Amino acid sequence: MVKKDLSFKAVIFDMDGVITKTALTHASAWKKMFDDYLRKRESEHGESFKEFTHMGDYLPYVDGKPRYKGVKSFLESRGISIPFGDPDDKPGAETCCGLGNRKNEAFNEVLDRDGVEIYPSTLALIKELKAAGIPMGVASSSKNCQPVLIAVDLLRFFDVRVDGEVSAELNLSGKPEPDIFTTACDVLKVSYSDSIVVEDAVSGVQAGAKGNFGFTLGIAREDNRKDLEENGADFVVEDLDEIGGLDGLDQLFIKYSK
Ligand SMILES: [Mg+2]
Repeated sequence: MVKKDLSFKAVIFDMDGVITKTALTHASAWKKMFDDYLRKRESEHGESFKEFTHMGDYLPYVDGKPRYKGVKSFLESRGISIPFGDPDDKPGAETCCGLGNRKNEAFNEVLDRDGVEIYPSTLALIKELKAAGIPMGVASSSKNCQPVLIAVDLLRFFDVRVDGEVSAELNLSGKPEPDIFTTACDVLKVSYSDSIVVEDAVSGVQAGAKGNFGFTLGIAREDNRKDLEENGADFVVEDLDEIGGLDGLDQLFIKYSK
C-alpha cells in the first residue's frame, strides 16, 4: 500500500448526509412522528397544532443528535415535558424513548422500501484515502450505522466505528459533545489536531470545534452554509466534489488547521 505524505493523519466521517443519502429519510421520519404526536396533543390537551418544520425544528434541535436527545431537545423547545423513559419503551409510548423508537420504526420502513443511496463524491474520497493508507473512522449518532454501512458494502473501509450502539455501551455523550469523534481518534491512536472531521449537521460541526480537531469540514447539503460556519466548521462545501480530491483536502488542511 502506498503511504502518501499528507499533512493529516486520519479522517473521521459522519454517516447520514455525509456518506449516505439518509439525512432526508431521517428528517421525514422525524416529521411524521412529531406531527402525529403534536396532533394527538391537540386533541387530548387542546394545544393548538403547530407543525414540525425542517428549518425551524429539525435542523436546530434534532439533526445529528442521538435519537432520544433529539426528542427531548425538540419537545423542550415547544415547552413540552414528558418522562425520558427507557430505551426498551414500546414505539409510541409517551416518553422521549417511546417517541424516538416510533421514529426509528418509520425510518426502517422507508429504508426497507427504498434502500440506501451513497454520495459518489464521498465514496471517491474514501477510496483515495484508503489507497493512501490514511486511517478512517465513522462517527455517527445512529444506532443503524452498522447495518446501513454493511448494506452498501462500505463498512470494510473504516478502521473504527463509533456509533449510537457503541456510544450506549461506552456511555459516551452524543453530539454536540465531541466524545464520539475523540473516541474514534483514540482508537486509531491519532491526535485530534492531526485529524479531520467531516460533518453535515450543526451539532456535528459544534462537536468538531469543541474537540479541537485539526480541521472540521462542513458539508452544507441544505443551503445552511452560514449555520455550519457559525457553529464551528473551518471550511464549508456543498458536496465533496468541490475539494479536489485527496490533494485538495491536504491543501485545505494546511491552510485551515489550527
Ligand atoms: Mg449527518
